[in-house]
Amino acid sequence: MTFEDSDPIGEFDVIRRFFSPSKGSPSQGHFSQNPVLLGIGDDCALMNSPPPGEVYAITSDMLVAGRHFFKDANPTLLGHKCLAVNLSDLAAMGAKPIAYNLSIALPDIDIAWLEQFSNGLHTIADVHDCTLIGGDTTAGPLTISITAIGTVHPQQALRRSGALVGDDIWLSNTVGDARLVLGFRRGEWNTPLPWQELAIRMDGPTPRIDLGLGLRGVASSAIDVSDGLLGDLGHILDASKVSAKIWIDDIPCSPPLREVSLELRRLCTLKGGDDYELCFTAPQKNRSLVQSLSEHLHLPLTRIGEVTKRIPEQPNMALLDKDNVPLPVDLAKQYMRSFDHFK
Ligand code: ADP
Ligand code: MG
Repeated sequence: MTFEDSDPIGEFDVIRRFFSPSKGSPSQGHFSQNPVLLGIGDDCALMNSPPPGEVYAITSDMLVAGRHFFKDANPTLLGHKCLAVNLSDLAAMGAKPIAYNLSIALPDIDIAWLEQFSNGLHTIADVHDCTLIGGDTTAGPLTISITAIGTVHPQQALRRSGALVGDDIWLSNTVGDARLVLGFRRGEWNTPLPWQELAIRMDGPTPRIDLGLGLRGVASSAIDVSDGLLGDLGHILDASKVSAKIWIDDIPCSPPLREVSLELRRLCTLKGGDDYELCFTAPQKNRSLVQSLSEHLHLPLTRIGEVTKRIPEQPNMALLDKDNVPLPVDLAKQYMRSFDHFK
């Protein structure tokens, strides 16, 4: 469809031009029939039943301009990130992506912006074979809400409640760079660092889908690190009714983050947020399985702690420094607090 300058484009033109599934008909994946019976264009999308024995895993994440991203954020990367953060939740559940819904409020119709945004979105969607099946488009302050759908066998879903005393605690890749970049952009610090290289860790996170799939039947619990490592790990510990000891100075971080002060490094790695790495627990007997998975995926997986028995009235985490000395309780508490939009 072409758009004349004299003919202002409206809601339905935007949907047709920018938010039609990129690949035409969705791929069949591991379904014996196409998972999407009916996509965009009617009042609802229709989904076929998941493959025998599997169930749908469904998750939503909303990104608001000025709160989750800067208003002048690169639109291509923003398109990537708003689906990536949803796929990251599917990964953390061990689910395989199938389809997604996009609800978007736009302050105005900016063709160049929409072009780039939808490119970023469709590119990552294609990588993960995830089909756009519908959504809603309205005028308003820039807000993007995605609901992603995946499939998983219910017994293999990586729930937060499965960690057992004695399990290892693992982390994928490194954490802290996104918080480091955020602080630089906000003017909290201005140490000379390769900021351009680091920026992608905040703007273009990689959802660990293959890791989530590989951890089915291997991990006992998992979560994606979106609000800060210790805060998010705390959700696993609470759901599993256990505690943990963490070797905080062994938490893997990037070379630039190794150069900054110990205090800043701890702040970024322990309570940074926006990392979208997976933190998971696994029985010690699965150590070699986790290590082979790491090699197979070319993705570092590091043991950062151990699940311990919960003792009533005691903090749920012991944070041990490089000399194995626990951090003072007040300092530890600060690191353990995760991001809360209303606090
Ligand atoms: P309704 O008014 O019945 O909710 P709409 O007119 O809002 O339907 O949308 C028409 C069709 O376009 C629907 O199939 C809807 O799912 C789809 N749609 C609307 N906005 C988007 C979007 N941003 N991305 C993908 N599909 C969309
Ligand atoms: Mg509607």
